[in-house]
Amino acid sequence: MKRAVSRILFACIFSQIISGCGGFTGNIPADKGMAAEKTNITSGSEQSEDPGSGMNGLSAVYSEESQSASRDVFAMDTYMSITAYGEETTAKKAVDEAAEEVERLDKLLSTGSEGSEISKINEDGGGTLSEESEEMMRYALKLYQDTDGAYDITIYPVMKLWGFDDQDYRVPAEEELKKTLELVDASEIDLDEKNNRICFGKEGMAIDLGSIAKGFTSSRIMEIFEKNGIRSGLVNLGGNVQCFGAKTDGSSWRVAIETPEKDGNYLGILAVKDKAVITSGGYERYFEEDGVIYHHIIDPLTGYPAKSGIRSSTIVSDDGTLADGLSTSLFVLGREKAVRLWRNHSDEFDFILMEDDGTLLVTEGIADDFETERKVEVITASAGE
Ligand code: ADP
Ligand code: MG
Repeated sequence: MKRAVSRILFACIFSQIISGCGGFTGNIPADKGMAAEKTNITSGSEQSEDPGSGMNGLSAVYSEESQSASRDVFAMDTYMSITAYGEETTAKKAVDEAAEEVERLDKLLSTGSEGSEISKINEDGGGTLSEESEEMMRYALKLYQDTDGAYDITIYPVMKLWGFDDQDYRVPAEEELKKTLELVDASEIDLDEKNNRICFGKEGMAIDLGSIAKGFTSSRIMEIFEKNGIRSGLVNLGGNVQCFGAKTDGSSWRVAIETPEKDGNYLGILAVKDKAVITSGGYERYFEEDGVIYHHIIDPLTGYPAKSGIRSSTIVSDDGTLADGLSTSLFVLGREKAVRLWRNHSDEFDFILMEDDGTLLVTEGIADDFETERKVEVITASAGE
């Protein structure tokens, strides 16, 4: 039996404003103090289909009540919502510019759509990179080094073999997996930063920026907000949340992180200002065959879905691109290596990892800002504690 399960969105924002959250069914118990007024769940559901370009053709809608402009977009294979607070003309302009940027980046980066920059590079084994792709490539290659190859954007041929590119899922035979894995090796990417050129060292290699594209996009939106004089805003790109500034009353945004069980409850609520909060999990996109679940985050060592003891990986950082790349990375790395990586970069990010037994590992940088009723182990910067 083969069952395809589409992505669900798994983070909501609880604030005085619009929150985009697919698959939301749950109630936040009042006694948890998670309280803030959840108004208007605007987008998303357990669907994978594009609702049509009409949705994307709309311009921002302004709410006098909340003094904010917002807009929903379907791009990068997910539902997104963009909100900016402020005076009507300014807020609408910022949100519309942000939505246009999302659509532009989607066209540029998509591996699926013919003619995108990335698919052309994959076809030709290299080529000229736009400024945006080049920036992402630099992140990707740095992450490849920092994770000893657990993060590897040349995983794409393996993603295709499993059918994750076109949802025609299948479990590959050992032999073909082994052969395809020979193409997975980011050290064979030659990036010429001076001339914006990229070249693959092996024929058949291909890249996939799906693990950082949404984080890169949300960071871009923060820049657009800034340029337009917005002081408070947020985006939710398929569960990847990035907040600009604080809420209009100066208090922190409250980001709820959904459980892998998709039961409407939450791992907890995180209070943040000016941060990206990005989660990866094997429950986001997967298929089931003969009772086994195969998900979309692959361990480049084996070619199989990563089984590291981590069920859900949330990264909190000022930098959306980094947070997105790291959320995928830590899911593959598992506890021990994730903690080691964090200890070397604790000024750049924090994490909330859920282990298979349900324990939450929370780094000390955010421990005080995270409310949960679950069992928490706080990870401190010094080893041996
Ligand atoms: P999502 O995009 O669903 O929010 P992630 O950010 O974790 O989740 O990205 C998952 C995507 O990353 C996969 O669909 C695939 O394109 C790519 N990917 C899978 N495994 C790896 C890996 N080990 N290193 C880099 N990218 C990966
Ligand atoms: Mg990611």
